[in-house]
Amino acid sequence: MLKKIDHIGIAVHSIEEARGFYEQGLGLCCERIEEVESQQVRTAFFSLGETHIELLEPMSGDSPIAGFLKKRGPGIHHIAYLCDDVVQQLAQAKAEGYRLINEEPVQGAGNKRIGFLHPKSSHGVLTELCEKS
Ligand code: ZN
Repeated sequence: MLKKIDHIGIAVHSIEEARGFYEQGLGLCCERIEEVESQQVRTAFFSLGETHIELLEPMSGDSPIAGFLKKRGPGIHHIAYLCDDVVQQLAQAKAEGYRLINEEPVQGAGNKRIGFLHPKSSHGVLTELCEKS
């Protein structure tokens, strides 16, 4: 079962350049910066009530974020929903005929188990399911 929107992921060329907008422009606090090696991405989390803004910066040209920036430029990259059980949630989407990017959960930022649904299946919005670590 889905619990809430956990975070909104925003692709940026540089966290150092983009964070000023969230900190000075909006008055949010950067909670942490974390590198996710498996995705070749550096992330910065800003708290906002029960949800977060996640800035995503590519760590290399191989990063999926590098590909996204090249194709679409900076902007909203994904929406992440917190759920009880990522495995069950992915299986449910698959059983209903929706395309998955991750058949099995992978490790995301904050040590969370995550899995993505393909944007072709979700009307253009890359959808992340995540589970509390
Ligand atoms: Zn995310």
